[in-house]
Amino acid sequence: MSDTSPPGSRGEDSASVGLRVEGVTRKSPTLHDFPYNHPKRKCYHKWIINVAPPGRHNCSHGCVYCYAREAIYARSQPGVLRYYRGLADMVERELDRIRLCPPVSLCNATDPCQPVPPLREETRRLVEMLLSRGASLSVITKGDPGFLLELPWIRDNPRVFVAVTVEGPPEVLSLLSPQAPPFHHRIEILQKVNNSGVSLSVRLDPVFPHLYRALYGESWMEVIEELIALFRSSGARHLIASTGTLTPRAKRRLLQIIQRLSPREARSFASEYLYDREYPSQGFRLTKDLRVGFHRRLRELCESRGLTYSACIELETAVADTPGLPHCEAYPTPFCIKRDDGSFQPLEGCTANCHVNCRDNPRPPCGRPQLAQPAPFKVSWLR
Ligand code: SF4
Repeated sequence: MSDTSPPGSRGEDSASVGLRVEGVTRKSPTLHDFPYNHPKRKCYHKWIINVAPPGRHNCSHGCVYCYAREAIYARSQPGVLRYYRGLADMVERELDRIRLCPPVSLCNATDPCQPVPPLREETRRLVEMLLSRGASLSVITKGDPGFLLELPWIRDNPRVFVAVTVEGPPEVLSLLSPQAPPFHHRIEILQKVNNSGVSLSVRLDPVFPHLYRALYGESWMEVIEELIALFRSSGARHLIASTGTLTPRAKRRLLQIIQRLSPREARSFASEYLYDREYPSQGFRLTKDLRVGFHRRLRELCESRGLTYSACIELETAVADTPGLPHCEAYPTPFCIKRDDGSFQPLEGCTANCHVNCRDNPRPPCGRPQLAQPAPFKVSWLR
């Protein structure tokens, strides 16, 4: 598995999404954590691997609220979708250089399961390599991960989960993520993941209450209640939700959409989504009192249906999450330690939520007490 392309070289492929698709070679190492060094960090330590360069044009879903930041070194270009070629080989070389492997997360910007055949092939090779080496792994998508579900080592693997984003019922999806799979397809995806024996969570994320009220009136929470029942019957055991953290551009786009449906809700949206710096990721958020009420109600609805619940980033764990979870994504994704043969095995007693799980423990199971802080890990600590 070697990539013989010179750094920065590009190869063009045909896309099934009406875009020009280009494979590019990544120049910098992939091994990095969330960049947050914030006392209210909620995310556990992860090795975030993106199969496409940063930038909203490198994802075919075109979501209105897109969180994908642009790379400073190469802005994404409208009509051109870039993905990384040869990523599995690159990541494997990085794995060879560490002894302690953080749980891998695919991806936290663009979608690793977009309907772009060469990108999916890169994702497939990468996931196969990571599983064969024994890493913990999560895949976050609103696409169809069916092409991954037949891979060896994925079924019934206690250190793997798939999180599928469903931001709401059909009317909401057609407004927020019209180019991603439609509602009925996303529900089929949930069922497919569940039937394959892979742990499944749903991301009801983001929920914009004003958009829901503009569409469904004051009974909008009943719509969410029905959704939760459907998620549970489709196999989800955990739900994670947010009310969104918006860039100025995303707030403007949302406002236009809500304005067309209900000028009154648009006015409330404009005055109740305010710039907030309280948590690691900053942007326009629903005011805190409304946010707390929303998450507590959702937790009740989830727990009454047999799901666990957590709020993503925008609220402390104690406020509205189901107690006792190892972290906000619920499923165990421990760091893994290298064996003599180069494969990795899970570290017993590790949750990867270092600053919570091992706070004040001078001898954590990994032997690296410096990990137990909200700062991102340093690669030197993993050697
Ligand atoms: S043992 Fe504790 S400090 Fe070490 S990686 Fe796991 S959670 Fe983090």
